[in-house]
Amino acid sequence: MPLVTPFRTSYDDTFFIESVFVRLESEGIAGWGEVTPWETPLYSAEWAAGVFDLARRWCAPRLLGQEVDSTWHLQRLLSPVRGNPFARAAFDVALWDWQARKQDVPLWQLLGGSDGVVAVGADFGVVDGVPELLRLIGSAFDAGFGRVKLKVKPGWDVEVIREVRKAFPKGVFHVDANCSYTLDDIAILRQLDEFNLAMIEQPLGYGDLLDHAKLASRMKTPICLDESIASLKNAQQALEIGACGIINIKPGRVGGVSTALDILKHARERKVPCWIGSMLESAVGSSFCLALATLPGMGYPPDIFPSSRFYERDLANREYSLCGPGQIRAFEGPGIGCEPSPDQLEGMTIDSFSLRA
Ligand code: MG
Repeated sequence: MPLVTPFRTSYDDTFFIESVFVRLESEGIAGWGEVTPWETPLYSAEWAAGVFDLARRWCAPRLLGQEVDSTWHLQRLLSPVRGNPFARAAFDVALWDWQARKQDVPLWQLLGGSDGVVAVGADFGVVDGVPELLRLIGSAFDAGFGRVKLKVKPGWDVEVIREVRKAFPKGVFHVDANCSYTLDDIAILRQLDEFNLAMIEQPLGYGDLLDHAKLASRMKTPICLDESIASLKNAQQALEIGACGIINIKPGRVGGVSTALDILKHARERKVPCWIGSMLESAVGSSFCLALATLPGMGYPPDIFPSSRFYERDLANREYSLCGPGQIRAFEGPGIGCEPSPDQLEGMTIDSFSLRA
């Protein structure tokens, strides 16, 4: 799905997204899932074509014809597949949609959300200069967004954030470094402490839990982990060693909605706030993020966007738009309340397969 403007992060300039969709059918009911690991193995070790191949050769055959009584059971059936959380998530989320459709309730209600309306955040990648960035931030606050997230990378960090803070002294901001620093950059990272940021997201490498713990002990700004948390175990270990004070949960990155719920439960017991991220999915994939974001006790507005923020036309048959200042309302179901629009799906499909028990 092409993006209306390229999304620039420390990883790459992204011009389009590649998703893997799963349609899981049983008892005459179909559930849809979508994961978007990106078309390149840059955000994580996974990438869309790899996830697609793994889904075809290893994941789908393990589920075909099985009696599956819960999404956690599905996770156990897929557990011999090492790593690859996006591939496992594709099936996990499809089964969540299926379950909610079978019970004829919206997914967000099935998960325990009390209200389908979520206050979301605005998010800007690296852009062509500070004036452009300030203009974008101004329009986001004018539109009622309660907080703004800014991508940073070496060369686009302290001085940019200084200008931003000067222009918006009261705005709630945080920065996301997408793994682009090391502990050698601690002097730069510590300068960010003066800007009263809500958090710094994933400053160091995805495998560097210990380095994050060292950094956290030397910074005032809370460290949030994103790329580092690909499982419940990662979250448990990160919290045990003090590698972060807040966790970003993306259902795709952690292996599905089921694992997301496990991490939320663990973090809640440790009184560590979590918030929900997304990967630039269509409205199908965003729906799973949004459903999680409706749960009570979320620590921060999620990265979930109106469809028009990134796409000319969403691949799904319904689009998300703001329902109030900086707010998005979850579809009324059943399930996620949307599915791929057939003509869009046909026009954009690169490859597909179908297996039957
Ligand atoms: Mg992030």
